[in-house]
Amino acid sequence: MKVFENYHLPTSVSEALTLLAQYEGRARVVAGGTDLLVDSQTEYYEGQRPHYDALVDVTRLAGANEIYEQDGFIVVGCAVTHTQIVASSLIQQRATALAEACAVVGGPQVRNVATLCGNVAHALPAADGAVALMALEAEASVASLQALVPSNQWKPLAKIFLGPGQSAVDSTRELITALRFRPLGKNRASAFARVMRPQGVALPILGMATCAHIENRKSEIEIQDVAISAGPVAPVPFRAAQTEEFLRGKILGDAVLQTAAEILAKEARPRTSAHRATKEYRYELLPALLKQTLRQAVARAAS
Ligand SMILES: Cc1cc2nc3c(=O)[nH]c(=O)nc-3n(C[C@H](O)[C@H](O)[C@H](O)COP(=O)(O)OP(=O)(O)OC[C@H]3O[C@@H](n4cnc5c(N)ncnc54)[C@H](O)[C@@H]3O)c2cc1C
Repeated sequence: MKVFENYHLPTSVSEALTLLAQYEGRARVVAGGTDLLVDSQTEYYEGQRPHYDALVDVTRLAGANEIYEQDGFIVVGCAVTHTQIVASSLIQQRATALAEACAVVGGPQVRNVATLCGNVAHALPAADGAVALMALEAEASVASLQALVPSNQWKPLAKIFLGPGQSAVDSTRELITALRFRPLGKNRASAFARVMRPQGVALPILGMATCAHIENRKSEIEIQDVAISAGPVAPVPFRAAQTEEFLRGKILGDAVLQTAAEILAKEARPRTSAHRATKEYRYELLPALLKQTLRQAVARAAS
């Protein structure tokens, strides 16, 4: 049996939503297809191949392949690929962690078609783009048809992730039209790092993103605010709230970093995964990635 019967290429959000509504839950949004079509094959071999009456492709929606600044946010449309993110000087300079995360997603073929919104909608706790976006405190614009009128709502990313592969966005009836986050300016910067199996082109053993807001005094740097996210260390891309709380107002130094790493090891809950790593190894990596990303974000913010 085919994975889908019909393939639609709408050019507006309202056309896409109307199409989804017409299929009454039997159609699904598709962007690059790098998760959706791979998942379809995997489930096929487990005897549960999904079948859609239609796929509704969102890569031709007007304006959806653009990255732009609006109302103090950087906005990324739902057709923007990881390759576009990596090439964007705006994101390289003002949301460096996201450019670094998208640069390591899959290989070039995957990055050329896979979208950042697809990375979020798929809702995996280790998704590189999603981990970076969590530290940037991103929001998603979720469009749905209410009483046959398209409506848009910006939602914090944390509210989108419900569990591994479970999203609050129903991709058979709704779509994420864009993502947005604040550009990091004076005394603020970010960094992303991940550890990966050498031969791997899929998800990481551990990824982490850190955004730092500092005050640069003559001989020392005070961390005014910090956002740290990591995956996979929980059922969803994880914000390290207790570690962040400890670091606020601290002068950056070895002892502070050591205590922060200990707090992070207590609040994160990595698990053993059959194909990637043991939880013990992930616990070993947590302090290393925290020190690396925090020092790098702070150095960038200070430069
Ligand atoms: C070989 C390979 C290597 C990979 N390596 C990595 C990696 O290193 N790191 C990583 O994070 N990921 C990796 N991935 C996973 C994947 O490429 C990314 O998650 C990608 O960003 C998904 O985007 P897409 O546009 O292809 O999504 P699709 O496959 O088109 O869609 C994924 C899911 O999201 C839904 N969806 C898509 N767009 C929207 C939207 N705008 N609104 C609502 N729902 C939507 C779909 O219905 C589907 O359920 C890899 C995949 C492959 C095949």
